Amino acid sequence: MRYVSTRGSAPILTFGEAMLTGLARDGGLYVPETIPTLTPDEIAALGGLSYEEAAFRVMRPFVGEAFTDAEFRRAIDAAYAGFGHAARAPLVQLTPNHFLLELFHGPTLAFKDFAMQLIGQLFQIALARDERRVTIVGATSGDTGSAAIEAFRGLPNVDVFILFPEGRVSEVQRRQMTTPDDANVHALALKGDFDDCQARLKDMFNHFEFRDAVGLAGVNSINWARVLAQVVYYFTSAVSLGAPARKVSFTVPTGNFGDIFAGYIANRMGLPIDRLVIATNQNDILHRCLTTGRYETDGVKPSISPSMDIQVSSNFERALFEAYGRDGGAVTQLMEELKAKGGFTVSQGAIEALRATFASGRVSEEETLATIARINTATGEVLCPHSAVGVSVAEKLRDPAVPMITLATAHPAKFPDAVEEATGHRPALPSRMAELFAHPERVTSVPNDLPALEALIHERRRR
Ligand SMILES: *Cc1c(COP(=O)(O)O)cnc(C)c1O
Repeated sequence: MRYVSTRGSAPILTFGEAMLTGLARDGGLYVPETIPTLTPDEIAALGGLSYEEAAFRVMRPFVGEAFTDAEFRRAIDAAYAGFGHAARAPLVQLTPNHFLLELFHGPTLAFKDFAMQLIGQLFQIALARDERRVTIVGATSGDTGSAAIEAFRGLPNVDVFILFPEGRVSEVQRRQMTTPDDANVHALALKGDFDDCQARLKDMFNHFEFRDAVGLAGVNSINWARVLAQVVYYFTSAVSLGAPARKVSFTVPTGNFGDIFAGYIANRMGLPIDRLVIATNQNDILHRCLTTGRYETDGVKPSISPSMDIQVSSNFERALFEAYGRDGGAVTQLMEELKAKGGFTVSQGAIEALRATFASGRVSEEETLATIARINTATGEVLCPHSAVGVSVAEKLRDPAVPMITLATAHPAKFPDAVEEATGHRPALPSRMAELFAHPERVTSVPNDLPALEALIHERRRR
């Protein structure tokens, strides 16, 4: 299996190389050259398997020779062993034909653990085999950073630096990043917003001298291996509701478009999906784009669902690449226009292709709080604000005849202030996380300045 860049002019890589590289050298994102498919019988056969076995069967065709079957199985087993639920991704029914896929039973209580725990294992195997070291730099609106630190802490061949927007992550998120005391972990509070963090990270990848000197590796959702790990739960949840004989729909609270793009891949692999619904908070660039055809940045407005406070949605580039018939030149032009003018217009053909797969909705802050309260009263389920954005959009757009699965992306205790405001009760952290408030924090405040960041990484990384 070979991987090509969405901008068409970076080297073609194997799965292992694409995983360790992150962003392509032409500024694009890696995607598989062809998308493998599963037959209806192969999909039906996933029913009743353990999550780990289903994960192996869904992901194996993308991995090629980068890992042996035994290595890949071992990585999957280790990745999910620390989850707090035997089903890993349990499905809970909310109302008739509306289901919630709980993706928050991993070590940092957000869906990011599904991918990050796996790539932590895969990095370890690949780096030890090649006797290589890498410096991982990640940008986070809160959950990616904690998941990455949890997955890579203490690994011998890796240093991990996480940039988060100072003052804009929840206390639980911050503590998950600042309390691990492993020598290879560095939490950096950047003076700026999440888009600044993401922009500086991209700058580092585009500064080849720095990139090569430190062995820069990326674990943001630009990393193909992360998208791949998220494809699995679309299959397991749909099959448990009768796929492939019956179509299902999904609603996905969306920021960087990674999680929902995994649903698109599941669909292309042969999983029958009726609608794939993008749910956004007041940072609604994706909803506006689907509605008007114009992709235009508009400044981040901090919200109660901070992990979706994003304007430039990196993985959308992968969807554009597909919508433009895999024309890397066209994608390059759009991205250059975005950089120069802050927006671009999607061609008529491409917007129709996107609308054939995706629907979208936007939720205000008030509706989000009201949804948390209403679902809590009606079902007893406590939603985090991101999951509430999903549920609210799903309720508006769903076809009652088709099962709707809304992805619950974080545990409510990760965002206790919003949940308490909505329900009057402060959600408790699972008991396995009690230590979080006992440990001292370790964090470095950094300016929104590339040379200063690069100097700090040079100085701190181990050799
Ligand atoms: C990261 C995150 C999202 C957004 O996911 P994307 O893959 O960036 O679209 C939504 N909810 C929570 C809780 C998250 O951590």
